[in-house]
Amino acid sequence: MDSFDPALVAVKSAHFIGGHYVAGAAGLDVARPSDGVVYADLPIADAGLVDRAVEDAWRAFKTSDWARRAPRERARAMRRWAELIEADVETLARLESVGSTRPIRDAALWDVPFTAEGIRFYAEYADKVGGEVAATRPDHLGMIVAEPYGVIGAIAPWNFPLVMASWKVAPALAAGNAVVLKPSELTPFSTLRLAELAIEAGIPPGIFNVVQGDGRTTGDALVRHPKIAKVTFTGSSKTGAAIMSACAETGTKPVTLELGGKSPQVVFADAPDLDLVARRIAGAITGNAGQVCVAGSRLIVERAAAARLVDGIETAFKALKAGHTWAPGTTLPPIISAVQAQRIGGIVARTVAQGAQVATGGARIAVAGEGAFYAPTILTGVTADSEAVREEVFGPVLTVQTFDDEDEALALASHEKYGLAAGVHTSDLSRALRAMRSIEAGTVWINRYGRTSDFVIPTGGFKHSGLGKDLGRHAFEANLRFKSVLIDLNQGA
Ligand code: NAD
Repeated sequence: MDSFDPALVAVKSAHFIGGHYVAGAAGLDVARPSDGVVYADLPIADAGLVDRAVEDAWRAFKTSDWARRAPRERARAMRRWAELIEADVETLARLESVGSTRPIRDAALWDVPFTAEGIRFYAEYADKVGGEVAATRPDHLGMIVAEPYGVIGAIAPWNFPLVMASWKVAPALAAGNAVVLKPSELTPFSTLRLAELAIEAGIPPGIFNVVQGDGRTTGDALVRHPKIAKVTFTGSSKTGAAIMSACAETGTKPVTLELGGKSPQVVFADAPDLDLVARRIAGAITGNAGQVCVAGSRLIVERAAAARLVDGIETAFKALKAGHTWAPGTTLPPIISAVQAQRIGGIVARTVAQGAQVATGGARIAVAGEGAFYAPTILTGVTADSEAVREEVFGPVLTVQTFDDEDEALALASHEKYGLAAGVHTSDLSRALRAMRSIEAGTVWINRYGRTSDFVIPTGGFKHSGLGKDLGRHAFEANLRFKSVLIDLNQGA
């Protein structure tokens, strides 16, 4: 699947509540990032409609058999859901690609299969993790019983709409919860199809719902709803903090927050195969045009290797092809919106005004239509105080800092605010492990960068990058609450 005609992709502009599409009055124009064409309008769920969705979910949680079904049966429905998603790859990949920054090839070969496999991964947990029998005094029996929370409020970003939604929804459902998901208002449609397929797979109506709208109206109403027992969020650090405080104000609700990053790529001169490292670093800042939470945006390189490495990265940048998400061979997709492209340009300009040099890029690229494309950019001559080093750019902008020894490298690698991920490239295993221990980040990749399909490895940030984990056993357990039970065996004999 290499290309498609965007005009032929039909979207359902609606919410999905209680197993049905629910129409709403037009609220927001939704534009295609690739060419700026408005292709749909989006209803905005107000507090009343959010209430209806949460109440429906609560009713389904209480009255359907989802939470009480034998866990293996719950797993079976989720596996069937994964199969339906895989079989629907053409529709889903086009829905994902037309309105997001995901090139069709990537959507078909990565986003859709990754979504299905993530659901399958959590289906397998449904009957593998239970409670515990505690080591109490012998005349008592102590149990720690795992229960679903009830209704989970899930809020997703726009950069990988299907995959990010699945990381929230799959562990919550596998644990027996109901979910009300709010996708990003910039990429709202593909998750509706997921909800439709969930019904076909045998997941009861009302267990997985989608409400559309912006953060201020719909997102805020969702996290503040009294019947939302837990919130799981992926997005910016600023929104994460606002959600955390809304959760504190409305019931000390637990939260999982997957937030922004400013991840370092630390390269020592003894790294195995510097040319390969250069290609990896280029890929880690230009994949999805840098609109990736774990984008490796700060290159920290030993002085002796800097020139060769930067050269290799520039060569890899030149091989990229900017284009519409539906065009064949696109490897550099658009920025999500003109506003975001302007923001990227502003950070680059202010960093240059602070004394940085643009080694390559530093400007928009023209592609037919009104889409916003930004050239892969390298900024040298930066310091820890440069704006592009301090702030998440969320675009294809790489800063370069050099070091002369390990201590200096590790001091540069730590960031005052963020701690999402880091890459360390060296042939010296002890040094790699010292770096791993020193860097404050939720994930450290050694001699690679980026996730594999090993869903068992959790992801999540330290400091302003978040709280809790997506993926792995941890994300499943975070969707359960634990009830302590103590039975006096001397009684009732
Ligand atoms: P955003 O914070 O602007 O929006 C994320 C979601 O929150 C959207 O659905 C939005 O409508 C909603 N929202 C906004 N204000 C809200 C409020 N007050 N209450 C409730 N909901 C609200 O983020 P974005 O621009 O969509 O996504 C990009 C950000 O996401 C980047 O910072 C990126 O690093 C981060 N991200 C993190 C991870 C991770 O795993 N750590 C993964 C992907 C993206």
